[in-house]
Amino acid sequence: MPRLAVLGHPVSHSRSPAMQNAALAELGMGEEWAYEAIEVAPDAFEARVRSMPGEDFAGANVTVPHKGAALALADALSETAREIGAANTLSFAGGEIRADNTDADGLLQSLPASPTGKRALVLGAGGAARAVVWALLREGAAVNVWNRTESRSANLCAELGGEPDSAPDQGEYELLVQTTAVGLGGEDPFAELPLDAGGFGPGQVVVDLVYGNEPSRLLAAAEAAGAAVVDGIEVLVQQGALSLQIWTGREAPLDAMRAAARRPPSP
Ligand code: NAP
Repeated sequence: MPRLAVLGHPVSHSRSPAMQNAALAELGMGEEWAYEAIEVAPDAFEARVRSMPGEDFAGANVTVPHKGAALALADALSETAREIGAANTLSFAGGEIRADNTDADGLLQSLPASPTGKRALVLGAGGAARAVVWALLREGAAVNVWNRTESRSANLCAELGGEPDSAPDQGEYELLVQTTAVGLGGEDPFAELPLDAGGFGPGQVVVDLVYGNEPSRLLAAAEAAGAAVVDGIEVLVQQGALSLQIWTGREAPLDAMRAAARRPPSP
């Protein structure tokens, strides 16, 4: 029976098992394939991954804090994973560990329109921001990056491209992508980020990678002002769909994945 998993620390909150098992069931593969969550601490990560090909695993997703370590231990890398410097998808065909990054294309798939030629503001300079900045630059967007700790946005731009912006004017941007952890712990985005609740407008696309059970305060304000919004669950679904295609070669059933990912986890 081919096994799949998400490796993280912590990982119990992950919606990937529900989403991917719903996809496997929809594809008629639910009897043979199964996707599970595996909690693994950083010091045990490499040994755990190396044992997986011998335990019938076909592949795995990798989440915080292992995306850099996943890249470092792989035998083969996609160009995307190498350039971003992080991997969220491992596959084990032929006993080799191959690393991919579907976060970048997942973000692009979730957008309502191509970012080519658009002015984009990325908020944050952590791991998620790296994939977003890389993807938007590859598509030909003009990317500015704001981060609370300015040295990190400066370093990210020096490495990947884009321009740091320490005092962005949100009305200038056609696309805004919120990649910081703000909102995860109930923080007020309009206190922590350089954004005004009343500063959005029609013609803008606003993405918030942080997701929970309710629409985020950021997206609620953007939507009320007439902006198009994309939430973190849609981005999660799109990156998961691309991972599933890598492992199974099958086109992912997006509607089944969305329905499962949007179902609140049982307490
Ligand atoms: P990370 O590498 O730890 O980076 C965290 C980022 O958040 C940094 O830019 C940090 O700024 C910023 N930050 C944290 N608290 C802040 C605050 N109070 N005010 C302003 N900035 C703050 O994390 P990551 O891997 O990039 O993930 C970030 C978020 O994206 C997480 O919440 C994760 O759940 C979400 N995510 C979602 C998806 C999806 O598919 N929907 C995929 C990946 C990640 P400093 O540099 O100043 O500390």
